[in-house]
Amino acid sequence: EALAVRTRARLLDSTGHVAVILDDITESRRVEAVRRDFVANVSHELKTPVGALHVLAEAVAAASEDPVAVRRFASRMTRESDRLARLVQEIIDLSRLQGAEPLPDLRPLLTGELLTEAVDRNRLHAQAQEISLAVIGDGALQVLGDEGQLVTAVANLLENAISYSPRGTRIVLGVRRSGTTVEISVADEGIGIAEKDLERVFERFYRADPARSRATGGTGLGLAIVKHIATNHGGTVTVWSSEGAGSTFTIRLPLFANAAATATPSAGIA
Ligand code: ADP
Repeated sequence: EALAVRTRARLLDSTGHVAVILDDITESRRVEAVRRDFVANVSHELKTPVGALHVLAEAVAAASEDPVAVRRFASRMTRESDRLARLVQEIIDLSRLQGAEPLPDLRPLLTGELLTEAVDRNRLHAQAQEISLAVIGDGALQVLGDEGQLVTAVANLLENAISYSPRGTRIVLGVRRSGTTVEISVADEGIGIAEKDLERVFERFYRADPARSRATGGTGLGLAIVKHIATNHGGTVTVWSSEGAGSTFTIRLPLFANAAATATPSAGIA
């Protein structure tokens, strides 16, 4: 891409030479293009459930003599409106996260509690798929963060792991220390992600398999939200995957402290 520049000032020195100060506006152009893209994608994504609701409402009206059909259409309307509500919520979450707002509520957090909360949010979903969840590692490791955001990040990864795994498989949530970093990982035995999709799954609205994502109620925003949360906390999120064998997503955050190490000795011995 060519460098885009804008002239900020022209200076004339005593020898008559002209100096020109140029601003690099490549970045602001790129940001603007990304924003336009986002608005276009959002419009497109909103049209699908809104269109479906319209068609279903007409179908209900036309089928008013047939209570079985009315119930069927009505339950699909509930599904579509749930999807619409979720999409709108995630669009709002994402645009907040993308804004330059400082992190609202930084506190030392126990990773063990973050994982437990994320598991609690997904327990019913996992049970419905007969998927077993295990939490392993050192939950006493602490990070500095916004509890709501970090739970959302881990819960999004777990929700995906459940959605993209066959019945009866196992998902392991782990937390470990690596130097001055805490690694939180969610490992599934699911369908995996093809090599060509790997680096794109964190993009907004990117789906490796759009039909499957829609069928599971996906919005295509979950991983973009995770990425922003990790970045806002001075961390990263990465993925390892093998098609057909499973995926592991890892969030890395700066270590704040080890609660076990700072606890009183008697608590340590007990
Ligand atoms: P979605 O709402 O579609 O799940 P995400 O942003 O959460 O959107 O994920 C983007 C895409 O990445 C998904 O549509 C899916 O193709 C792929 N994906 C995410 N997590 C997993 C996983 N654990 N296993 C397999 N594919 C996954």
